[in-house]
Amino acid sequence: MAVQYSIQSGYAILYDQHIKVQWSKFVWERCSIPKHRYILWLALHQKLRTKEQLSKYFPAMDTVCLLCGDHKEDITHLFFQCTYSKICLVKMKEWIGCRVQTEHYQALLQWISKAKHLSKLRKGFFIAVVSALVYHIWRVRNDVLWSSKIWYVNHIIEVIKRELKLRFIVSVYKGKRNRDKEWIQKL
Ligand SMILES: [Zn+2]
Repeated sequence: MAVQYSIQSGYAILYDQHIKVQWSKFVWERCSIPKHRYILWLALHQKLRTKEQLSKYFPAMDTVCLLCGDHKEDITHLFFQCTYSKICLVKMKEWIGCRVQTEHYQALLQWISKAKHLSKLRKGFFIAVVSALVYHIWRVRNDVLWSSKIWYVNHIIEVIKRELKLRFIVSVYKGKRNRDKEWIQKL
């Protein structure tokens, strides 16, 4: 069956394809830890079951963010407009020396992939940092939901740093020596 073409629909198709290419690049970045990549993939495809998503099926359900208690919980808010996740992002950006201002996870990924001053290796590491943040913030959110406990930001930051350095040193660039590898080892 043919679909009637219009400039708007053509643009929508092209735009969608463009975004999909970009997304796959982020999600399959090998610096990232597989379980982090999986949650990032869900977030990028709007498939994380946030309260805002669930309220479409259960209209009576409250949609207040579990982390700050102050805004509607949707993916854009969780990554990284929420007070809790914003602090995590600031701390991780300080750690890797990333000065970009955006607090939107997709804009952040786009910026990293296009940054001309970053080597391929550093881009991969930066993307791994964003993936780790998305994974851990989602995990913290679920802990609040199911166990009514919230982790201190510093605890989350330390866990992410440890995980990423281990991933990088042990699995990803074993055997290669260069300036970027030394930079990551010194973090
Ligand atoms: Zn919040």
